[in-house]
Amino acid sequence: MSPRSGQVEPVALSESKLQVVNHRMANVAYTESTNSDPRPMGVEISLVVIHGISLPPGRFGTGLVHQLFLNTLDPSTDESLESLDKVRVSAHLFIERTGTMTQFVEFDRCAWHAGESEFEGVSNCNDYSIGIELEGTDDLQYADAQYLVLTHALEALLRAYPRITSSRIVGQSDVAPGRKTDPGSAFDWRRVRNSIGYCR
Ligand SMILES: [Zn+2]
Repeated sequence: MSPRSGQVEPVALSESKLQVVNHRMANVAYTESTNSDPRPMGVEISLVVIHGISLPPGRFGTGLVHQLFLNTLDPSTDESLESLDKVRVSAHLFIERTGTMTQFVEFDRCAWHAGESEFEGVSNCNDYSIGIELEGTDDLQYADAQYLVLTHALEALLRAYPRITSSRIVGQSDVAPGRKTDPGSAFDWRRVRNSIGYCR
């Protein structure tokens, strides 16, 4: 994939594509969240769920999403965080506005991202999916750097886990309609599908 001219690429990814090695994204920061479970026996990874999150909502680069996933968030610091008291969640990958990506859960474990959910009649998407959180809100355009890193990450996941196909890359709003709206109308599905289209 050659990025369009004028697009800003994070230095670390300018030449090398991402690769999954031992259920981790190689050369990507890994900070383990304990909010995870083993995959159920015999269940194969076959879905990617894309989310949007920002803490406090609409503010970026605060470090609070990391804290949420690591159970170190102090909800008393901001009114908007009160509902997160004792909430235990995680995602496999978090991509900040700058394109910085962090892995919190190894791919062969379940991260706690989808909650009550269903895809094509199969419930509990956490059991068989990989969760990717993009720092953002439903209605503010996601950053170019995020699309670039997301595309590299998806390509690596498609290679590593063949049961994931491009039609099995969905949003939280697709697997929990009526309950969740992220990644929202701001997320450009066509852009992502076009970028990875050649590979599957
Ligand atoms: Zn979500």
